[in-house]
Amino acid sequence: MLRLQNVSKQFDGKPALSALSLEIRDGEFVVLVGPSGCGKSTLLRLLAGLDEVSGGEIWLREENITTMTPRERNFAMIFQNYALFPHLSVRDNITFGMKIRKEDKASWQPRLAQVAQMLQLDDLLDRKPAKLSGGQRQRVAMARAIVRNPRLFLMDEPLSNLDARLRTEVRDSIMALHQQLKTSTVYVTHDQTEAMSMADRIVVLNGGHVQQVGRPEHLYARPANLFVAGFIGSPAMNLLRLPCAEGQVRVGELTYPLPPAWATQREVWFGLRPEHITDSPGPQALTLPATVIQRELMGADYLLHVSTPTGALRYTRRHRGAIPEKGDTLTLGFSPADIHLFHAETQHNLL
Ligand code: ATP
Repeated sequence: MLRLQNVSKQFDGKPALSALSLEIRDGEFVVLVGPSGCGKSTLLRLLAGLDEVSGGEIWLREENITTMTPRERNFAMIFQNYALFPHLSVRDNITFGMKIRKEDKASWQPRLAQVAQMLQLDDLLDRKPAKLSGGQRQRVAMARAIVRNPRLFLMDEPLSNLDARLRTEVRDSIMALHQQLKTSTVYVTHDQTEAMSMADRIVVLNGGHVQQVGRPEHLYARPANLFVAGFIGSPAMNLLRLPCAEGQVRVGELTYPLPPAWATQREVWFGLRPEHITDSPGPQALTLPATVIQRELMGADYLLHVSTPTGALRYTRRHRGAIPEKGDTLTLGFSPADIHLFHAETQHNLL
């Protein structure tokens, strides 16, 4: 539906986005995720038409929209700072744009009713924004955006100013809305957990470059490189730079075979997710001795920081039975199937 071809953006000669190509399918919910400054908002602004591309093209179906104005594009933007008009009622906030454009009331009245119902705002239409909760205000901002029947939604961290409970509430509203409308959406966040839970597909950006595009499960199971491995998943993957000899990587006393094409490597990045390590290993597991350095309660799980002959690791432990304490010695185990290996220099996934 939407195609970006080699899109780039420079600010004062400095690249903020480099040759980015991406396709967004009809009805898809795509999440752009990456650390601060990676170019997420820049990309969203280019899509909205608020900034001009420095190079490349943007296509909407068969139409080249690269130089179209925001208005011609008819995309809806939802930002973190949902500026509502304080002196207008919820109803007037939602319909403001249509009144300005002098659209026929008969044409938007039914849409207002439908959108208000969808976002559970029916009973609030006569209230002023000051008398709404943060989540309700954000839903009004969403209603204002969708009542125009846009071709695409662009959302820039719409949850970031909300507290944890409201964040869940508004996130659920966004997902329910998407289920009903099936309008293609590009959603920006720096929070990988949010990305994992909402996205049909995730685009991981870093330093203005696309690192990987794929379904959340795929990014979790098969990160393309060291950056994605460390960024996707919480708590973050353990990553250790380990020596290799004779086609094997050494993990403490253990050795693990490198893929034949990489048998001459002298070092690799070894990755293991905290949730893939256990302190009660079965007979098939690879094992490592460990000493507990610190333990952290994280709700349902504990996160244990341990030292091993191979380096420091962290693993998660269900809150059940006797939880190891600082100073305890353990045998940790993991399955060879859960190991990730990355090239020491290119940082690409080797497996
Ligand atoms: P954050 O999560 O912090 O909002 P982001 O991923 O959205 O970050 P962008 O705002 O897209 O990042 O910025 C990408 C890069 O472009 C940054 O290095 C930023 O400093 C730079 N940049 C963004 N807008 C401008 C501008 N108007 N003028 C100059 N540089 C800019």
